[in-house]
Amino acid sequence: MATGGSFLLCPLRLGGTPWSLCSRIVLLAVVVGSYGCVRYEPPEPTDAPSAAEAAPVQPNLLLITVDTLRADHLSSYGYRLPTSPNLDRLARHGVRFADATVPWPKTWPAVASMLTGKYPATTGVRLYPRRPLPSDHETLAELLGRSGYQTAAVVANVNVSAKFGFDQGFDEFVESWEEGLERETGSTVFANDPGEVKQFTGARVVTDQAIELLDAIANEQPFFLWLHYIDPHGPYRPPAEYDSLWAGEYAVKEVPFEAIPLYQRQHDVAGEPISDISQYIARYDREIRFFDDQLQRLLDDLARRGLRDHTLIVLTSDHGESLDEDLYLLEHGAAPYQPTAGVPLVVVFPGRVPEARVVDTPVGLIDLLPTLLELLGLPDPPAAQGQSLVSTWTTSAPKPGKYVFMESGSYEPSQLSVRKGKWKLARLRAPRDRQQFEREEFELYDLTTDPDEEVDRSAENAELVIELRAALATWRAETPEYDGPERAEMRAVDERTQALLRALGYAQE
Ligand SMILES: [Zn+2]
Repeated sequence: MATGGSFLLCPLRLGGTPWSLCSRIVLLAVVVGSYGCVRYEPPEPTDAPSAAEAAPVQPNLLLITVDTLRADHLSSYGYRLPTSPNLDRLARHGVRFADATVPWPKTWPAVASMLTGKYPATTGVRLYPRRPLPSDHETLAELLGRSGYQTAAVVANVNVSAKFGFDQGFDEFVESWEEGLERETGSTVFANDPGEVKQFTGARVVTDQAIELLDAIANEQPFFLWLHYIDPHGPYRPPAEYDSLWAGEYAVKEVPFEAIPLYQRQHDVAGEPISDISQYIARYDREIRFFDDQLQRLLDDLARRGLRDHTLIVLTSDHGESLDEDLYLLEHGAAPYQPTAGVPLVVVFPGRVPEARVVDTPVGLIDLLPTLLELLGLPDPPAAQGQSLVSTWTTSAPKPGKYVFMESGSYEPSQLSVRKGKWKLARLRAPRDRQQFEREEFELYDLTTDPDEEVDRSAENAELVIELRAALATWRAETPEYDGPERAEMRAVDERTQALLRALGYAQE
């Protein structure tokens, strides 16, 4: 039965496949640990430089998630242009994971998994049927709140708004568009223009709001501050001062204008359609640089307050973006390939995390929550499905047999992929043809010699394919499907939320 109003949403580019929000009133017994106020006990000493001693009070946590930020467009991840000098400098103060994979390359499943430490199957937050983050999950904010933390967030993507349950556990939860609209446009009237949405949810607005939150929470530490930036999510509209950055660095590449997702399409000053996809890629890169400059402003503010040495800083993304690859243009979510799967992951914690360390082992963002809790000296939640990554930098050898799993796809059942070392096995299912759902095709790629995933190596590696298929099957069998109640407080999505969703490429039907 529906709870509250029902609504229908689907990605604009997929056309009219409606889905309905249904609910099953089946209670799920969730084993939830008890997290009373826990005194900070520093982790075991690592081989990190020991210059900074652990402070006597619980450290702060700053979690920065940058929407749609693919790793390989950052200079520290090998990109040819200096898109991220400030992020790169931050990474040099800690551990940079060179090969981090999201649990699902779409905003709400990925963020729900990061905040709960559970796979999308278990959170129940998948693409369809769309469901807000169920309140019976324990979130990072709730865990830290019970350990005495002030919890605050600024989010710039409506897909992780309170409407969809992502405010769970936060004392302060700022949705950047609500204030940003008036602050940036001088009006409370929403014009429903994608460019305007980017203007009043952009990195400068989020950083302003974060600094204002810090004014309120920095005096009573510890705090957990989560910032979810929207740049460089499409439509790519960097501020005017970035318009000519790296002009001439991009080779013209024409694509059919109709192949570009509707919400991403742009026109030149004469009103002509821009079908040169390199111009979009340039704007994507400029948005990264815009975010990167705002990141430095935030870090400078933290330093001014004297908080840098006593704050665990983690920066990552919910997913990447397919730009001109695989004819999957300017999108994310449906394909299992690396442009959307691979994201940055940087962990900085003076004295507790080594400096200038790069971890090449493939890891998953499912491991983020256990990692953070271990670094903060807090107990591992029993329901978390990931495992702490601290051992990846405290031991020299990667853990053998470690698999990293990802779901993707626009419909259920989804596509699956598994990583082991340099290898990646993807189970593909035709996303647009429901008649093909039972057909399974597997592709195997060697990401060291074939980073663009062009040569299927499954034929000459049959045993490895069998092993990885078995790993996928075991993972699926052992990962419980969410079977709990819908959130009782689920409401119809209001017009403002619908308009914000449309601006990011989601249409109401
Ligand atoms: Zn996203």
